[in-house]
Amino acid sequence: MGRHIRVERKMGERDFYCREMVSGSFFVAHIEPSAFAAFSKKGDSGQDETSCIFQVPDAQGYSCAIYATRPVTCRNFRCCRMRIFDRHGVIAGTVKGRRSFSPISPELEKLWNEHVRPIQADDDKEWDRNVQEVLLASGYSVEIFDS
Ligand code: SF4
Repeated sequence: MGRHIRVERKMGERDFYCREMVSGSFFVAHIEPSAFAAFSKKGDSGQDETSCIFQVPDAQGYSCAIYATRPVTCRNFRCCRMRIFDRHGVIAGTVKGRRSFSPISPELEKLWNEHVRPIQADDDKEWDRNVQEVLLASGYSVEIFDS
């Protein structure tokens, strides 16, 4: 999606006025505090045609440095929408799409198979709440991104 995001103006150390080329709409991108170091290291000058300027390396491969302020096109693309961290703050798994779980830690995978998969809830918000309850009770923390 690299060519779909164009930085029009740098507004500050962490803020960029951008254009989303598919819809032509403008938006202000704010670099997430957790991604700032990786973004600074990468540099903000290059806008190549293949990767987005806001895509930064992380423990899982790549993530979006402006996740909370990413444009609508990216939100509709729906990549990672839930991140699960162990008690040391290390990423243990993610949920992509609607409910597709990608484990990183075998312990979390076991917990997921035994206690999360059986959760029945048609409503996504209710499912999120129930999943979060199970994970918190087992010492995990959860970040949920509204898309
Ligand atoms: S989700 Fe983030 S990294 Fe991916 S294309 Fe959109 S702005 Fe760039």
